[in-house]
Amino acid sequence: MNLENNIALVTGAGQGIGKTIALTLAQYGADVVIADINEATVSTVAHEVEAFGRRALPFVLDVVNLAACEEAIKKTIDTFGKLDILVNNAGITRDMVLLRMKEEQWDQVIAVNLKGTFNCTKAAIRYMFRNKYGRIINIASVTGAMGNPGQANYAASKAAIMGFTKAVAREYAHCGITVNAVAPGFIKTAMTDAIPDKEREAMIAMIPAQKLGMPEDVAHLVCFLASDLAAYITGQVIHVNGGLYM
Ligand code: NAP
Repeated sequence: MNLENNIALVTGAGQGIGKTIALTLAQYGADVVIADINEATVSTVAHEVEAFGRRALPFVLDVVNLAACEEAIKKTIDTFGKLDILVNNAGITRDMVLLRMKEEQWDQVIAVNLKGTFNCTKAAIRYMFRNKYGRIINIASVTGAMGNPGQANYAASKAAIMGFTKAVAREYAHCGITVNAVAPGFIKTAMTDAIPDKEREAMIAMIPAQKLGMPEDVAHLVCFLASDLAAYITGQVIHVNGGLYM
């Protein structure tokens, strides 16, 4: 895989899966915009991208804000001249069983995970449409396909991302833009570190591979989908889950 001369923007790139995606894109040769709500992490990750000899742009971004997403895309084009790859990775959980789930917990998860994906895609596709090229990769979740108790909000947002991916893929396939979703299973990050040990052990017991995945397991697939090797793949949801869901 060679991503030289590609410009990528990764949301939620300050830590976890998004950070590993950003660094792996850089390893394959891409220049990367590090977009994250957490101001403290964007510059650090940008320096790590530069350590691979690539260009990086740190950008503090709340994906819930459409105008801010449009500004991020504009800054990318102004800085690098183009945008080839968008990875919609920013995501949050606000877990609670439905009977006790607050409206606010529902709204926050839908706003970041789903509306954030809409916002960045809408802002990016305007440019990609004109350029007749683009690779959009949305990070969904196995939970969107199989459900998970305590995650009605999160599962709904991730299932919606799968439908969104297919609709947008159909709209723009004719102009060189592919849109795919990657659905990770349980991956070792701050998100899964926050799960109590006993619950995590129970989760691992359900996985045929008998271990959590690593952010790299997701990042290499994202890079493949971003590359020319995947030019004829669009509208797909590809699972990376150690066999948890087949
Ligand atoms: P993570 O470690 O919590 O990282 C998510 C990053 O997104 C954080 O830097 C976070 O900043 C940032 N973020 C949160 N809200 C944002 C917003 N409104 N705008 C921009 N950035 C925002 O999560 P992760 O485990 O790497 O997950 C990354 C993606 O993979 C998510 O979409 C998640 O749903 C998906 N996923 C994860 C797993 C897993 O097992 N880890 C499984 C399936 C899918 P703060 O830290 O400041 O909030």
